[in-house]
Amino acid sequence: MKQIIKNVIIINPYEEPVKGFVVLDGDKIDRVVSGEPEERADSTIDGEENWLIPGFVNTHGHAGSSLLRGAGDDMPLDTWLKTIMWPNEKRFQKNTVEAAGDLALVEMLKSGTTTFLDMYHLNMPEFAQKIADTGFKAVLGRGMIGLGSEDEKKDKLKEAENLIKNWHNQAEGRIVTAVMPHAPYTCPPDFLTKSADLAAEYGVLFHTHCAETAKETEQHIDKYGLHPVEHLHQLEIFKINVLLAHAVHLETEHIDLLKKCNVAVSHNPKSNLKLGSGIAPVVQMKQAGINVTIGTDSTASNNTLDMVEEMRMSALIHKGLHEDPASSSAADVFASATIGGAEGLNIPGTGKIAAGYKADFCLVNTKAAHLTPNLEERAVSHIVYAMKSTDIKDVWIHGKHMMHNRELLTLDEEKVLFEADKQAQKLL
Ligand SMILES: [Zn+2]
Repeated sequence: MKQIIKNVIIINPYEEPVKGFVVLDGDKIDRVVSGEPEERADSTIDGEENWLIPGFVNTHGHAGSSLLRGAGDDMPLDTWLKTIMWPNEKRFQKNTVEAAGDLALVEMLKSGTTTFLDMYHLNMPEFAQKIADTGFKAVLGRGMIGLGSEDEKKDKLKEAENLIKNWHNQAEGRIVTAVMPHAPYTCPPDFLTKSADLAAEYGVLFHTHCAETAKETEQHIDKYGLHPVEHLHQLEIFKINVLLAHAVHLETEHIDLLKKCNVAVSHNPKSNLKLGSGIAPVVQMKQAGINVTIGTDSTASNNTLDMVEEMRMSALIHKGLHEDPASSSAADVFASATIGGAEGLNIPGTGKIAAGYKADFCLVNTKAAHLTPNLEERAVSHIVYAMKSTDIKDVWIHGKHMMHNRELLTLDEEKVLFEADKQAQKLL
């Protein structure tokens, strides 16, 4: 199907805005053209001089725990995991996880996320089916804590493998899979190695939390005599494609090692701040040439899945921390939240509005005081420093119109919110 979205200002990081239209051929962008279209299409939408921007790529989250939003604030990671997350998750039923997943989809879509990574240990095949049915795009992995009996560990790896076998490159390529052991402090070395072998066998991404808190990192060093980054390297895990979540507590040598091994990082500033975990050395990592992407983590530690907020937080905290406003530009951060994220997730052809790329983008309503003066040359600045996610009025994923005038076209928002409240009540 040929679609045209006309009368828009196309904004990519680092590029001059284009006042014109985009032509879609099926799930791809066929052309980006300046001016007015004279050709015909199966469908033509008038963008009313609003901005067309790449959809956001959220590189770390746990949709299944969305009903725990606000359940345990103001505590450090280990206390929060042991007293809030893990005991609650033990009581989760199928309905709980489904309601949580749907809620996450609604929240992400309404804030302009078109691709996301999800690590979760419950009902991942069902979530994959939901994503396939509703038009989303995701990197999915069975979250695995490598503790327990040998049989339990084997079962987890088997589930991870089945997810790959059944869902990798499915739903017209909107779903890819990855291997996701939880973290070096919850997975012994042999479990990490087996996970990496599985990722290598199927040629998929390896994703894990790493060096999130000082405590966990110091305990790892005490136990193994190695920093978790050095340990993953020693286990030869960096020979495959790796994306690390957090990477907060790193020294220069660890940053150098990540760069040398081409490891990407998912920076989750709000979750790290809220749990008091620290601030990742993003400026140093970027200077070293590491691909630092942006993720929200779950609503249980964030407490939103709003990539606009996350991008702005990332843009601002490092300037303050380093007392250097030039430590990153709006374009850098916008790129990290879009094309950089897609590269970190190993999804080529995603994250940019250009010919040949997948048609994943958002239309932003620019008629608002906080986006005025509405000058094209200030668009990237406005997107990072002023835009609200509620300014996003339409969203497309793989050429499918997913939200129009803030109304979701593939999910019943009212029903999802009702069910989420109902399931959260049940948990109390
Ligand atoms: Zn996480």
